[in-house]
Amino acid sequence: MSCFIHKDIESKSKCPICQNELCESCEKFCDEYGACPNCLNSQVVSMLENTNRGIIYSIFSLICSGLFLILYLVDLLRGTMQKNFIIIGAILVSIILPVSIILLVHTIKKKKEYKSFLNENKIEK
Ligand SMILES: [Zn+2]
Ligand SMILES: [Zn+2]
Repeated sequence: MSCFIHKDIESKSKCPICQNELCESCEKFCDEYGACPNCLNSQVVSMLENTNRGIIYSIFSLICSGLFLILYLVDLLRGTMQKNFIIIGAILVSIILPVSIILLVHTIKKKKEYKSFLNENKIEK
């Protein structure tokens, strides 16, 4: 049998995920990443799709908390807000706003990582 990626090289083992035959260099890759180049690629592609969804979610929560912050500040400046709500609102804003920003930055970073991974590891067939 030959490696399913490198057709001209004899296979040494199998990928634990897709069970395809792997050559020595693919086997090494598998040891390092826990999947053959092909499987890892499709895993990264699906993770990339997840980050796209994550970015939309975090932008949405960022907009929501931004709007909330504006409404909160307007109400606060009017001086009509109840004391309890001032505290609750401040806690909400100070949690949700930074969390959405961190989430957004983190997800964009991950997306870049996955993208550059896919560019670097173009599979030759
Ligand atoms: Zn595989
Ligand atoms: Zn191979």
